[in-house]
Amino acid sequence: MEKRVRTRFAPSPTLPLHMGGVRTALYSYLFAKKNSGDFILRIEDTDQNRFVQGAEQYIIDALNWCSIVPDEGIGKGGKFEPYRQSERKPIYRQYAEQLIESGHAYFAFDTAEELEQLRKNAETEKRTFSYDASVRSLLNNSLNLNPDETAKRIAEGKHYVIRLKVEAGEEISFTDLIRGKVVFKSDVIDDKVLLKSDGMPTYHLAHIVDDVLMEITHAIRGEEWLPSAPAHILIYKYLGWENKMPYYAHLPLLLKPDGNGKLSKRDGDRLGFPVFPLQWKDPSSGEISTGYREKGYYAEAFVNMLALLGWNPGTEQEVFSLDELTQLFSFEHIHKAGAKFNPEKTKWFNEQWLQRMNDVEIANRLSTQIANSRKDLTYFIKAVALLKPRVQFENEMLEKGKYLFEAPENYDEQVISKKWKPDLKPFFNSLVAAFASLNDFANSNIETTFKETTAANNLKPGEVLQLLRVFISGQGTVLIYFQCLNYWAEMKWLLD
Ligand code: GLU
Repeated sequence: MEKRVRTRFAPSPTLPLHMGGVRTALYSYLFAKKNSGDFILRIEDTDQNRFVQGAEQYIIDALNWCSIVPDEGIGKGGKFEPYRQSERKPIYRQYAEQLIESGHAYFAFDTAEELEQLRKNAETEKRTFSYDASVRSLLNNSLNLNPDETAKRIAEGKHYVIRLKVEAGEEISFTDLIRGKVVFKSDVIDDKVLLKSDGMPTYHLAHIVDDVLMEITHAIRGEEWLPSAPAHILIYKYLGWENKMPYYAHLPLLLKPDGNGKLSKRDGDRLGFPVFPLQWKDPSSGEISTGYREKGYYAEAFVNMLALLGWNPGTEQEVFSLDELTQLFSFEHIHKAGAKFNPEKTKWFNEQWLQRMNDVEIANRLSTQIANSRKDLTYFIKAVALLKPRVQFENEMLEKGKYLFEAPENYDEQVISKKWKPDLKPFFNSLVAAFASLNDFANSNIETTFKETTAANNLKPGEVLQLLRVFISGQGTVLIYFQCLNYWAEMKWLLD
């Protein structure tokens, strides 16, 4: 029987979740759902030095906002609890020790200062220091000490780490679901630390143990982990877990809008777009970074945009709901090359989703944002229908169409001083009267009335149209403002 598909999203709560992280979660979710499997949320918090207060809750909130809801894991529970690695600490040591016993790992006693010195020496010689097969026999580890000395040091409580012993001269290969067969030489892999001096496992060991114990079938993660993948393949092999190894899929990077390098928070600050799904307040500096939600994006649009950043459905269609994405998702259509982020296109997705949204629901939301509005819901619905095709964001309707909902507080004085002449007053009075006497206040009738009245007064539309707009949408002549405002929802032509 085929194994049930199980994917996981395994962020470290070190920073707020970047949109690239949300995309990783999304693809893992889509793949699990497409295959009627489970999507798991696991928190990888073994690096206590990088712990950031609030980051875990942020991850949960961000995924909820996007409707990328785990079936199992943090905040949800499940049969493989706990799902927070720090709470699983006692589980990992036995696997590190198993590797030592089988000769695939060793204790290393080198101090941080000694290693720093080795790094510095290498730098002066224009080399990079790597703790690997070429140097390990010269260093302070159990491979070079006699067993009694090793045991004595451990008994004395000397600090040590456990390192993977990577044999030189081997070839390691695996099949990545996106890149196909990937081959590495073992000489380029260092002896990765598996268990740290505080007894916590590193990512390298912890994710493998957890992926196996949690029966993960597909590990979908960022491309930055590709260089570590051969070490991971070796750990699976040395633990005798080759047949339990999940398929790996390394997702392409998200690139800056100009394609030069990885998308970072700084690009967002510089170019004025969010890189986080939700607003984030840095607990130490108090700095606030805005989020897509706070900028007025729909979660549907944000998710839609992310899905297409590195994947395509193989057709020209671009607007998809989460359910539609679930139907169509496959690794085949994920690109190998990095995906350039396009902030304008992101707005476009929002605009598309805005057009799909229900006018009554939008009207309900907008009406609660206007204090003391005397307009009823029917009016709001009409206004929404009028404004919706002209904006990209729901809240833009309130900004740009403010005059539809409340009396303006100021008007464009420049237009008035440039265009207003007292002898235009009779014209505007007759225009108001003509508007007021219309039986059917339809666009075409309004337009004809306007043109006829201007012609009868020997005026060209250009001389008065701008003024009329200011009168209606700015303060202007009160009579005209009120007369027209009653019908404004229908006066579409004035907005063109
Ligand atoms: N904790 C790792 C990270 O945040 C997870 C990588 C993975 O999904 O295996 O990058």
